[in-house]
Amino acid sequence: MMLELTCQQARAMVSNYMNGDLDQERVQALEHHLQHCTSCPPLYASLVEVQRHLRQEQRSALSHDALLDVSRRISQAILDRQEQEQ
Ligand SMILES: [Zn+2]
Repeated sequence: MMLELTCQQARAMVSNYMNGDLDQERVQALEHHLQHCTSCPPLYASLVEVQRHLRQEQRSALSHDALLDVSRRISQAILDRQEQEQ
């Protein structure tokens, strides 16, 4: 039985997903949500893009932990913004 995520749950899991911190059940649930939701994929894509950009631009300047911190802050900011818009 697949977990059914709300958008809020899915968005809260995205940074952990990108960092490989989710168990297999949650990975499948989140990927399922991203395939069927219309509003979450653009948010996820923007996070992926930012993190990829950071890795390229700041490879020597930022530690792995700093990158994780930045990606968590960004995902939290997106989450906060989405909640305000609703
Ligand atoms: Zn969603």
